[in-house]
Amino acid sequence: MVSSFLLIAMCPDPSSSPFRARQERLRALMETRRVPLILVTHLVNVRYLTGFTGSAGILLLGPRQGILWVDPRYTLQAQEQAEGVEVIEEKKGILKGAASWLRKNGVREATFEASNLTCAQFEQLGKEAGDGLQLRPAGELIEELRVVKDRGEIEAIRRAGKVTAEVFAEMLPRIRPGVIEQDLAAEVEYRMRKKGAEGAAFETIVASGPRSAYPHARPSSKALQESELVIFDLGAILAGYAADMTRTVFLGEPTRRVRNLYCAVLKAQSGAVRAVRDTTRAGEIDSAARRVLAKHGLARYFTHSTGHGVGLEVHERPRLAKGEVTHLRSGSVVTVEPGVYLEGVGGIRIEDTVLVGPEDPEILTPASKESWVIS
Ligand code: ZN
Ligand code: ZN
Repeated sequence: MVSSFLLIAMCPDPSSSPFRARQERLRALMETRRVPLILVTHLVNVRYLTGFTGSAGILLLGPRQGILWVDPRYTLQAQEQAEGVEVIEEKKGILKGAASWLRKNGVREATFEASNLTCAQFEQLGKEAGDGLQLRPAGELIEELRVVKDRGEIEAIRRAGKVTAEVFAEMLPRIRPGVIEQDLAAEVEYRMRKKGAEGAAFETIVASGPRSAYPHARPSSKALQESELVIFDLGAILAGYAADMTRTVFLGEPTRRVRNLYCAVLKAQSGAVRAVRDTTRAGEIDSAARRVLAKHGLARYFTHSTGHGVGLEVHERPRLAKGEVTHLRSGSVVTVEPGVYLEGVGGIRIEDTVLVGPEDPEILTPASKESWVIS
């Protein structure tokens, strides 16, 4: 006898696909914003909406339309991966394919992703689609949807965060005087892959001594030395989703001043993390971190914003910066990363990726912040 469970498993309900669900959410948003058709050219958004992970593709989405144009390299992959859309193979250029579809179907009005279409592509699209088509920017509708993650997305980031934290813990015994920054960064990325990550979500930062005072230093051929601060900013990418974490360590016995600096940043970071919940405005997280640093006379050394959203991209909405009035939302994933950078002394930054909810946030990058002195 075939159980009903088996029948369900064999004939999955189309509405259970996260990609189809996202397409429906986008269609609903398009309706309220009076967007008739949208041409999606940002590949991250194409992936978000369909599951297609190729390096070239254009998606058209309308109230009833869902078409993905790919070149012959990606036909099979798109047919396998893309859900809820028709796949069209286009040998003469995917933009051309989309444009001629718009012309043949007599489309009068379509929107495009202004931040992901070059001027040359815009001109080509207009030329191929003919005079009858009015093209206007769509706004960042898909980015708006991506602010709130679904269960699968959260699970992917949780896994990426776990790998990131584990790799950092494994690196601790390797952080010692004489080791080259680039070697440590390479080791971080190798270990991420060994743990099943697709790679690093961004170029791993290892910056030691005076170089740690550059918030975005690249790893160099410098060797770590005794009595130096070392900043590690790392994040694995898993199933397309990123994590982002920073830890700072000190080699040897820190001076009282360095201890005070570290404790101030740690307090600023934990205070700001505690402020994260779905009733808080994004700017309030930034103020929470700044308030603590100001109390320690360090406000002027905190030169960047407190955090950002993380997901398919390392930097996405929302921004946790001064004056941001939008409320955080349950299901958003954000970083909290205050830091201080003192010329000649070095920098200290502590960053976690956290999941926003109605209560205290879940820390998705659970690596120790206490074992920062390496003697
Ligand atoms: Zn980071
Ligand atoms: Zn970050």
